Amino acid sequence: MKIQSVRGMRDILPEDQKYWQFAQNLFDETSSSLGFSRLIIPSVEELSLFERGIGEATDIVEKEMFVIAAKSDDNATLALRPELTAGCVRAYIENGMKSKPQPVRLSLFGSAFRRERPQKNRYREFYQLDFEAIGDEKALWDVYIIYSSLKYLERLGLKNIRTTVNSIGCRECRPSYREKLIKYFKDNVDKLCEDCKRRLRTNPLRILDCKEPACQGLSKDAPKMLDNLCPACDEHFDYVKSSLNNLNVDFEINPQLVRGLDYYNRTVFEFNQKADTGRQSSLGGGGRYDYLFEMIGESPTPAVGVALGLDRIVNALKENSIEIPKVETKQILIVGTPDTVKQCLGASNKIFETTALTPLYFPQETAIGKQLELANKLQVDYAVIIGPDELKSGKYQLKDLKTGEQKQIKPDKLVELLS
Ligand code: AMP
Repeated sequence: MKIQSVRGMRDILPEDQKYWQFAQNLFDETSSSLGFSRLIIPSVEELSLFERGIGEATDIVEKEMFVIAAKSDDNATLALRPELTAGCVRAYIENGMKSKPQPVRLSLFGSAFRRERPQKNRYREFYQLDFEAIGDEKALWDVYIIYSSLKYLERLGLKNIRTTVNSIGCRECRPSYREKLIKYFKDNVDKLCEDCKRRLRTNPLRILDCKEPACQGLSKDAPKMLDNLCPACDEHFDYVKSSLNNLNVDFEINPQLVRGLDYYNRTVFEFNQKADTGRQSSLGGGGRYDYLFEMIGESPTPAVGVALGLDRIVNALKENSIEIPKVETKQILIVGTPDTVKQCLGASNKIFETTALTPLYFPQETAIGKQLELANKLQVDYAVIIGPDELKSGKYQLKDLKTGEQKQIKPDKLVELLS
């Protein structure tokens, strides 16, 4: 049987790399200029980190995890990470980052895995870019994460970004709100989709962002968390809103925005392209996650972060015909014969070490004319011909393949001329 890529997983081909490299490089530059330090974490963690951190009643943990058959050396069940934040928190704890000045600002890049129904913008392996600020409860850091995300999207050239924010309260105010919500939906239970009937028992807030039209219709008139915030949450959210206004950030408040993971509290936010009216394929989202540490059995530590989806960012760059700045690397093909391998290798190495050109050398038996045809196919810029005639005369031929111009040069002048 033919072996194929796994359903929902894909190859990212050389012709697309300019987008990926552009977006990744810009993320590196933006995150370091905003004071984030890079953290790399493993793709595999103990399953219990995600079960406890993200929440067992979330779609991600309930339906979408890739659990690994093999166990760890101490018999723990392992899973491919469905996102990076839980692993980041584990790394923060394990590496004693609490003793550093707080908040610790971290940036992460890596793949995440979810067994979702594959479709455009929804892959089973996808790439996330995270900004995380761990160890400070102040609303200023919520604003900083939103600001950092927007600066990055702006630098990419993506305009028309819709920023939506909401507050989902805290332990003080959410339980009584939850009761109100359950009562409201119970009174209308017949109209809910099957998933939401179940969510009513397990995670009623998630009903608010169900994509089914009937559930959406009901949710519009449901009690709002924003009308039920305790004074501390209210003050926190006021700070976020006024700071975003002071920064001239164009944002909308969406009372139905709850995000799909259990660890969030207070501020949650999402970034979409304005053209994406269905809000089905956000470019990124995040929020405050002050309870995640406790959920995984650690001492309370406030934090806030965002995950941006690189696959969707690349799709958006293409759809918006964003011009990717060209990195000019000119290529030069070394054309030779079996008799001149030594000279060809020497020239190739010299060009590689001392110029900005990319030397290509494929020693072969074919005639020089054939090799020049190959050079044209590869769209290289120059060819240097080192055949038996050139060895005899002590001069190489340098050909500009774009203009067809050809001249003789002494081997020791080759590099000088090319640089
Ligand atoms: P989430 O925390 O689930 O909202 O994920 C954060 C971001 O990751 C989303 O806004 C997307 O850009 C991206 N993302 C999530 N799931 C997928 C997926 N299955 N395929 C591609 N990108 C995804």
